[in-house]
Amino acid sequence: MSKKEKLDYWDEDTWRKLKDEFNVSKAKKSEVKLPREKTQKAQTLMYLYKNKNSAVLKATAEAAICGAMDIPTKDIQSLRHLSKQDGFKILQGGELHNGAKLPSGQYVFCGFDDINSFWSSKRRDAEGLDFSSIKDNYGHSCATCGAKEGKEHRYTKKIVVLEKGHMDPSNKMDNSNIIPQCKHCNTVAKNHFVFNCHGRVKKMTIAGILKLYKRGELENIKKEIEDHLKK
Ligand SMILES: [Zn+2]
Repeated sequence: MSKKEKLDYWDEDTWRKLKDEFNVSKAKKSEVKLPREKTQKAQTLMYLYKNKNSAVLKATAEAAICGAMDIPTKDIQSLRHLSKQDGFKILQGGELHNGAKLPSGQYVFCGFDDINSFWSSKRRDAEGLDFSSIKDNYGHSCATCGAKEGKEHRYTKKIVVLEKGHMDPSNKMDNSNIIPQCKHCNTVAKNHFVFNCHGRVKKMTIAGILKLYKRGELENIKKEIEDHLKK
């Protein structure tokens, strides 16, 4: 399909309405950012916007969004990301909607005058950070692999950008809980590890254990732990 044909699917009227509403909203004031237009994420937000305040099923939403973009139906991650990463107020399975627990696999977009409270507290925690002093202390290098900021990374061959690595993901992000990490190390770590101040892994988080070990390995670990605890 050519680029021009694809743009024909873009619903300009709804997008304009959505943008007008967003521009005077609490979300905008709280520095939530709209996705770029004509992207899958923008398409997802438009779908949610059209179904504001009502529960939408993941599968139904995916069929509609992919249908609008004329691509085969697939897993749409932006349904989750728009809330957790971008700050839009979208209820998900397990959260309360009209006094009842929303079943898993359902989403409710609550409009632009509210935001994801977890996202906003994460942002508040991130304020007051003195990342440039922290980077100075580490010689502007990744604490974990030593890659130098602004230089080519020896594995990825990309220019190194230092990110705020969370030493202990279960604690909030303050100056004592940050190490500079290159994108490569930070992405690999996700919230799977607890690091010391030298960027070395201190231990795995429970989320990391559950995610990184296979079922059989987890069963072995469970048995070893049970035996260990009996001693
Ligand atoms: Zn690194």
